[in-house]
This record gives sequence, C-alpha cells and structure tokens, in this order.
Amino acid sequence: MVEVGRATLGEPIRAVERAARDIARLIVPVSCPGCGAHDVRWCDDCASAWWEAPLRSESLSPRLDIEGRPPLPVWAIAELAGASHSMIVAWKDGGRRDLDRFFADAARRAAAHIAPALDRGLVHAGAPIAVVPVPARAASTRTRGIDLPLMLASAAAQGLRAGGVDATVRPVLGIGRGEQRGASAKQRWRQASSLRVTRDVGPPATVLLVDDVMTTGATLAAAVRSLDVTFLTVGAGFCLAAAPPSGVRTRGALS
Ligand SMILES: [Zn+2]
Repeated sequence: MVEVGRATLGEPIRAVERAARDIARLIVPVSCPGCGAHDVRWCDDCASAWWEAPLRSESLSPRLDIEGRPPLPVWAIAELAGASHSMIVAWKDGGRRDLDRFFADAARRAAAHIAPALDRGLVHAGAPIAVVPVPARAASTRTRGIDLPLMLASAAAQGLRAGGVDATVRPVLGIGRGEQRGASAKQRWRQASSLRVTRDVGPPATVLLVDDVMTTGATLAAAVRSLDVTFLTVGAGFCLAAAPPSGVRTRGALS
C-alpha cells in the first residue's frame, strides 16, 4: 500500500518538475547559435552568411571524385567553419529547432538561385528534376523529432520550382540494414552505414542530391553510386555548407 501511495504522489511531483523545467527554458535568454550574442535567436552578422548566393564547392572535397566521371557540380551556401559551423551544429545536434525554418528558407533561396544553371547545363528544357535527400540516421531523426534532410530537400524543390524548374522530392535513399550473421564488427558497421535505394524511384529524371553539409564528399559519392542501378542520373549536389579542406578535421562535431 505504501508503494501505491508513493506512485500516486510521484505523478504530480513529476508534473511540477516538468513545468518548472519548461518555465526555466522560457526565462533563460536565448543566444545566437553562431557567436553566442545574448537575447537574439540569431544575430544579423551570423545570419548574413546564409543569404549569400551559393557557390560551386566540389573542388573542396577530396573524396567526391568518382572514377570515370566528370566531377559532380555541388553548390554550397557557406563554408562549414566559424560561426556558420556553430550554427549548423546547434541546428543538427544542439536541439535548436527554431533554426529549422531559417535553414529551410536558406535552402529555398539557394535552390532558386541555381535553378537557371541546372536548367541550362544539366537537363533538357522542361525535363524533370528529382530532388533526393541524403538520409539521416533513424536515431538522429528520432532525437530531433524531424527529418532534416527531407525538410531541406522539400525546401530546395520549392526553390527550384520558383526558378521555373519541374522539380519534385523523391526520398528514395535509405541507410542500409541487412546485417549478416558472422560479419565482423567493421563489416557490420559498413553495412549499417551504407546508402541504398529503398523505394521505387519513379520515372527517369535528373537528380539533385541534397545534404546538409559536405565534408570529404564521400557521402555524396556513395549516394551517386547507390543510384547507379536506377533510371535516375545524378546531375548535381546541393548542401548548406561545405567544409574547407582543413575543416575536414572538425567533422567529428557533427552527427
Ligand atoms: Zn551571431
């Protein structure tokens, strides 16, 4: 009976604790995820980097090259360094869900900007573009409560359509499972981290791969290879930020 009494008393106490935590979050001042400036969700200086026109960034990534192919054109808005890097970390791994809209808007603007280049260089006039997100790990999506790559891809497709391109989102890639009994830990890790086509890809189209960041380029290269077996041809990539060559060392900070 004593145990029952404790349990029933525990509920309202836990509710009070939760309420106290929620109130504390409201009172604790926010700060800029880029530079730490107090009492702003983000400061103008740090936000301004994401209003720049996206730049071709494929030359930054040593592992983007795929044998026998011309380099994949990849656009990025910012360098994954300094305040921009801090903002991305706060958004992806720091729980700053208030940045979802901010980065979706940035992706939309950037995609509208690259739409003419895609239309001229990569597709026949009026041909469709499939915007394919590079998927996040299921655990990351659970923790965040939102599928960030899918959100970015949707925003990019909106931007392309605003730029006159026939673009739709096709989330056809998944992260492989299919672990084999007896495989070594390293083999299991490789299988678990491999990209593969997990859905019907739909009619032929040129693909714009969308990822949040590009560090070595290995992930985009893996996505290109995984789509080789389909009617989809990867024509270009887009990411919010690309690591400068020396920035490869800092990638451990991101999931
Ligand atoms: Zn700032």
